[in-house]
Amino acid sequence: MLSELFADFISLIFPEYCLGCHAPLMKGETTICTRCRVDLPKTDFHKDPDNLMHQKFWGLIEIEYAFAFLKFIKGGIVQKLLHQLKYYGQEDIGELLGKLYGITLKKEGFAKKFDVILPVPLHSNRLKQRGYNQCDAIARGIAEGLEIEMNTKILERIIANISQTKTQNLHERRENVKGIFAITQPELLQNKRVLLVDDVITTGSTLEACAVPIFEANCKSLSIATIAITTN
Ligand SMILES: [Zn+2]
Repeated sequence: MLSELFADFISLIFPEYCLGCHAPLMKGETTICTRCRVDLPKTDFHKDPDNLMHQKFWGLIEIEYAFAFLKFIKGGIVQKLLHQLKYYGQEDIGELLGKLYGITLKKEGFAKKFDVILPVPLHSNRLKQRGYNQCDAIARGIAEGLEIEMNTKILERIIANISQTKTQNLHERRENVKGIFAITQPELLQNKRVLLVDDVITTGSTLEACAVPIFEANCKSLSIATIAITTN
């Protein structure tokens, strides 16, 4: 009782603010206020197997399910939240959005569709620089929501940047993304249904680069989930 009173007292002096709209958070709210949560621009891609995200990979790699939680609109709330997650240490945002999405997907029956969740890793130099991987936070949230195990050790980034050359055909494209990511313990992915998690999808080349060694490890299927998709 006393500690609760004390907490109320502290929040009066140091109110916490919503990371979306900067309104003071009410009692029981954390990180993002209720109004911002309700207003998040959702894609509902999980209701459409042939959604825009899935289409990005048609003819390139075989994806079982493709999910993006929110629409990334320039200057919108999603851009703002992801910016704070990526550059201002706000890992809570990643965990929260991931968890909200994981819970949504679980309600729609997707918890039984995957065996392991893998976040897209950062290159070790970048990880040292930033101190954390924003995709780990998102994957932690999704894993919690879906109640599926995540593993941050299996997929590793060997090369920091993907070359941005405009490649023409499938073969050249595949060569371009080959060797950027690697699998440390292929036996852990054998015959497993993998859910790969990234923050934003634009062209899909990062996810495509991850898919190469995941398929080489003889997974059963590969699905992808991101917090946002750029729409233009
Ligand atoms: Zn808000």
